[in-house]
Amino acid sequence: MYKINENYQKLPGSYLFSTIAQKVAAYTKAHPDKNLIRLGIGDVTLPVAPAVIRALHQAVDEMGQAETFRGYAPDLGYEFLRSVIAEQDYKARGCEINADEIFISDGAKSDSGNIQEIFGSDCTVAVTDPVYPVYIDSNVMAGRCGTFDPDTGRWSRVIYLPCVAENGFVPEFPKETPDIIYLCLPNNPTGTTFTKSQLQEWVDYANRNGSVIIYDAAYEAYISQEDVPRSVYECEGATACAIEIRSFSKNAGFTGVRLGFTVVPKKLLCGDVSLHGMWARRHGTKYNGAPYIIQRAGEAVYSEEGRSQITGQVAYYMKNAAVIRKGLQSAGYEVYGGINAPYIWLKTPEGMGSWEFFDYLLENAGVVGTPGCGFGPCGEGYFRLTAFGSYENTVKALERLKMLP
Ligand SMILES: *Cc1c(COP(=O)(O)O)cnc(C)c1O
Repeated sequence: MYKINENYQKLPGSYLFSTIAQKVAAYTKAHPDKNLIRLGIGDVTLPVAPAVIRALHQAVDEMGQAETFRGYAPDLGYEFLRSVIAEQDYKARGCEINADEIFISDGAKSDSGNIQEIFGSDCTVAVTDPVYPVYIDSNVMAGRCGTFDPDTGRWSRVIYLPCVAENGFVPEFPKETPDIIYLCLPNNPTGTTFTKSQLQEWVDYANRNGSVIIYDAAYEAYISQEDVPRSVYECEGATACAIEIRSFSKNAGFTGVRLGFTVVPKKLLCGDVSLHGMWARRHGTKYNGAPYIIQRAGEAVYSEEGRSQITGQVAYYMKNAAVIRKGLQSAGYEVYGGINAPYIWLKTPEGMGSWEFFDYLLENAGVVGTPGCGFGPCGEGYFRLTAFGSYENTVKALERLKMLP
């Protein structure tokens, strides 16, 4: 009799988004005439840029001609894309990353979920609390997280790094040394970034303790402040301890197109074993590669025209972020994030939990957001609004919010 992987059954279902959907459906039924505004969206809404669409059309045509047809893509991805990434994202910023250290993929969710496969099954994992749920979930499925305690919302073997207003959402080093440390910067959901010296401390910590950092930079394009690093490799010694994951989803609207990449430096060694070699083995065996057509679309993002078009899209969302930030502040809220990230993280009013605030906002303003507790126990008492809506709706939502009792 076969058995299933029991670790998969340990994962509690995504009650967060199903509960939100139920509450929204109930509200819409009770108030069919009310215009609901969604500021809980974790997905881009602007269409893919014209320069990218043109590249897609052209690549599709190439696939229909014998002379330009392409079959399987190379394991690491096409050289034309890897080299432009190495030049523009890394070398131009003084990071010593070469094209052959970049692995093209179908996105950051797969890479951040799959990367744990190259590590030992008894490695301990540290995550910031709150954080994007994929890091814990993928390690739960691999059997690294122990058991879940519904009372505390925590896994027995996970090392949590609390990020709250009191520590400026910058975690302290844990008492117990983790093997694998996930850092998402700029952070989803808090919008937090580290200064270069704060990140350098984590890189030094990892090098000193023999830990590896998995650095998710999906929101790198939203960084507006000078002293905030765009890449972990801006820190000294990071090529010896960090893997960086990036995505075309949030900067270039590729959430439905699918493209991302992971950097595994050749200097990254576990004893004398190269993690680059390990990931190459994983990538070449269990992954079919991003399609040629999509990799050409990714290349177009780095063209002068593509770059300026996607910069315009990021600026559009960040204008919304400013509207949300300023509106909330003038209404007396404690507000975080929204400067280097499309996420605004607010403290719920005294005596109101995350879900109570969700109901309050929905009932009184017709605005939908995301309760902070959905991203980890330390998110309780906080709430996330996102800048991915339309400008008109964002302005309208904040007008309603300012009118609240
Ligand atoms: C949206 C998001 C991703 C997903 O990226 P894809 O490339 O679309 O898979 C990864 N990491 C974080 C933190 C995200 O918020």
